[in-house]
Amino acid sequence: MNIGQLLTLRAAAHGPRRGASLSDVGIIQDAAVLCVGGKIVSIGSMKDALRDPWLRKNRKKVVEIDCRGRVILPGFVDSHTHPVFTHPRLVDFEKRISGANYEEIAAAGGGIRSSIDGVRKASKSALTQKVFAALADLSRHGTTTVEAKSGYGLSLESELKSLEAIRAAAREWPGTVVPTFLGAHAVPPEYRGRSQEYVDLVCNEMMPAVAKRKLAQFVDVFCDRGAFSAGEAAHIFAAAEKHKLAVRAHIGQISETRLGPLLQYQPASLDHMDHVNDADLPALAQSDTVATFVPGANYFLGLAKYPNARRFIESGAAVALATDYNPGSSPTLSMPMAMSLACTHMKMSPAEAIAAATINGAWALRLAESKGSVEAGKDADLAVFDVSDYREIPYWFGTNHCMLTIMNGVPGGPLSP
Ligand SMILES: [Zn+2]
Repeated sequence: MNIGQLLTLRAAAHGPRRGASLSDVGIIQDAAVLCVGGKIVSIGSMKDALRDPWLRKNRKKVVEIDCRGRVILPGFVDSHTHPVFTHPRLVDFEKRISGANYEEIAAAGGGIRSSIDGVRKASKSALTQKVFAALADLSRHGTTTVEAKSGYGLSLESELKSLEAIRAAAREWPGTVVPTFLGAHAVPPEYRGRSQEYVDLVCNEMMPAVAKRKLAQFVDVFCDRGAFSAGEAAHIFAAAEKHKLAVRAHIGQISETRLGPLLQYQPASLDHMDHVNDADLPALAQSDTVATFVPGANYFLGLAKYPNARRFIESGAAVALATDYNPGSSPTLSMPMAMSLACTHMKMSPAEAIAAATINGAWALRLAESKGSVEAGKDADLAVFDVSDYREIPYWFGTNHCMLTIMNGVPGGPLSP
């Protein structure tokens, strides 16, 4: 109650937000939200809430949170994270500062491969603790739904261990976790030069084991120069289809890959999208596939260029924002930071950034029925920011103004996630 600005993001039409509708955050001034049993029951003005006969009768039974004129919005949906790793990559950090690029660091045995050893050696409970710490930190920054990928194990045993760690951590956290199998994150050292054999291992051994244990909802692939080809990605998508797992991909971070062959598999989202051919935009706009930008990676890699978000939005493609939390290229858990970068470097408006970080993130995880907006019937996932205007959320970069999150009806303050 006493919400200064309630950003509802309620639906104007079916489907993810596109074009002009991306700016419509559905504000109610001086608002109240009623939640019961982990669900949102009603939203509206304070005046209407105080007049509501049920509420008048039951007011003593209701836990009231006085927001004192602050901003409330749907909890962020971070649709792209890699939380299963053991240590920060500080050597890479310094190497890059002194001039080495991502590919040179990888060629020198750093990069993603230096995270593989750590995960292979770690116990499941050590990984579970790391994932839980990340989830707790995410909720301190306003995130209530998280997609979490495996992908630093790259062997049958270590990929299963990673996904089990995600499952165990998710059980302890009141928010919602969507697990993704990313066995095709990189070709592991022991398969160097034999990527097709590794793809066969991913499709024929890892994926059936993941599907059988119900450890993932999505299959992801890193499709780019130095990782997996478009042909290999299509092969992995086809195998996922056989196991009834939905698909998503990392694409166009370093080099351009044509989208057509992958769109046939109806991926929930295609992520990064720095290098995309203009001719592919109409097909993308026609689809329900969300283009997910992760500007934290551009920032941390020190790139001058960011994805051209305006080109995507004007074409009618659905766009989302995510942190890409990972130790190599984007060690941030802050959705407000990703939004700030989207505003300053990608020319998205604060309203567009908020829609991309909430309702369109929910579409990117196929959870829009229950997540991403504040509407009766949806899950009670809310973030309270200690600001009086929503535009302050991306404006005050580098400091955290989230003071409370409510996840499936459970309050978690910054000090007690
Ligand atoms: Zn990623």
